Amino acid sequence: MVKKLNHLISNWIVYPVLFALTEILILTGPNLANVKLSQAWAPMLWLAGASIVVLFAFYAWCKNWHRAGLLTLLFLIWFDRYGFAAQAIEGIPGVEMKLPHMIAFFFIWTAPFLLIGSSFLWRKVQKPSMFTQYLNVVMVLLLAYSAYRIFSYESQRIPQTFTQEFYPLAPALQSDQMPDIYYIIADGYGRQDVLKEIYNVDNQSFIEYLKESGFYVADQSRSNYIRTMLSMSSALNFGYLPDLSTTSNDEGPLQWLYTNSRLRRALEDLGYQTTWMTGWQPRSAENIVASLFWLNSITALPVEAGILPSSLPTFREQHNLIDTQIAKLAELAAQTGPKFVYLHILVPHPPFIYDHDGPVTPNEVYMLSDAGSFPGSPAEYVQGYSEQIQYVNVLLRQAVENILANSAQPPIIIIQGDHGGGAYLTGSVEESCIRERYSILNAYHLPGEAAQRLYPGITPINTFRLILSSYFGADLELIEEEKSYFSPAGQTYRFIDVTGLASQACEIP
Ligand SMILES: [Zn+2]
Repeated sequence: MVKKLNHLISNWIVYPVLFALTEILILTGPNLANVKLSQAWAPMLWLAGASIVVLFAFYAWCKNWHRAGLLTLLFLIWFDRYGFAAQAIEGIPGVEMKLPHMIAFFFIWTAPFLLIGSSFLWRKVQKPSMFTQYLNVVMVLLLAYSAYRIFSYESQRIPQTFTQEFYPLAPALQSDQMPDIYYIIADGYGRQDVLKEIYNVDNQSFIEYLKESGFYVADQSRSNYIRTMLSMSSALNFGYLPDLSTTSNDEGPLQWLYTNSRLRRALEDLGYQTTWMTGWQPRSAENIVASLFWLNSITALPVEAGILPSSLPTFREQHNLIDTQIAKLAELAAQTGPKFVYLHILVPHPPFIYDHDGPVTPNEVYMLSDAGSFPGSPAEYVQGYSEQIQYVNVLLRQAVENILANSAQPPIIIIQGDHGGGAYLTGSVEESCIRERYSILNAYHLPGEAAQRLYPGITPINTFRLILSSYFGADLELIEEEKSYFSPAGQTYRFIDVTGLASQACEIP
């Protein structure tokens, strides 16, 4: 029996296929907050199939299964990991990886694989089955480990029912006015005083523009939460999220609160038409796992060169998407009937797709990153952000003009950051600049008397409490204790009160 097993392990070339499966699981694991495990099956099958084809091709060429197995493994690592290695190098502060550098790196990357796979070295191998035996065992262990990690994550999923119970009812609204409502989120847009302090950006002229256009700018506003999904699911449901004190990062419940918000349900019940425009492209959301695979692979090179049409979102698509959405505001404003328009642009949040003048590097692969996952130093973040925000102002002006010029009745417009910048944000309170992260732009165009209820420190949790009670007679009081909560790394639903820290200046090195 043992002998039989030993024979099997030494002679069956299964490790390249196991490696292919592991590759996809490794990509899936850290992204389970946004990805369903079921997304991994198709890429796993695809890659496993491809590895078998490659194995047979190498066998046809060298007529030796052991060697063909080794060559297949080398090929897979070479193919799958090139983009990953190139990005790792780009992550070193001060290093740039433009196309010429990537081409040079391609040769440096390829050389050792050619050497290890060469016939010259293979001839020196005494016992080829030893490789097979060893690699089979290693890959089984690796696959088991990545499967275990995924299993332990999956077991921490929060049941969907939790959110449905949390905000079950939409408030009853009534009104004969029904002004149009535009809720514009500029992701990561910080507050004017903090932009000056940390980013050396003088935003005065934009703030003046807003005021001249009839906006009230709450100049002491803070975000209530640290990240997009937390902030938005709280703001759209006008309440704090429950502290679950678990170690789960499962964003599923937040996604539900975001798409099925009390605000949206209440307005739709009243007869409002909703238009929901965000920066997340549907196709990348459809299969994040496959996208990540291509991004990390050697296809990063021809995509960067513009030879391969990207299966991945690019800067250009993001530029076009934002332009289209802002143009759409004019069209929507001209339509009759009450409407609720949600526009969420993913700027000035990184990646930096604009400089102060407009779009840059259209072919670059678009991947959202912030704080710790930002590929670059805090100084590079500050530089990119301070450029980008200037063009975001141009875009926001267009948005405001498109709405105001085409509206028959004065509309409600809110322009808000879901949180501030993240140059100095880490996974812990002590090592982060809380003030940078929580100070936000928060501007209101409120026709009629409602504007008089606004105050400098209003936070998003009260945004729609104020609006729905002022215009629609909703039975919603303003929340007096407007808190800001930090979620430590890996604990999305553990909320640490950092309200006090949000007003303290940081020591920036
Ligand atoms: Zn955000």
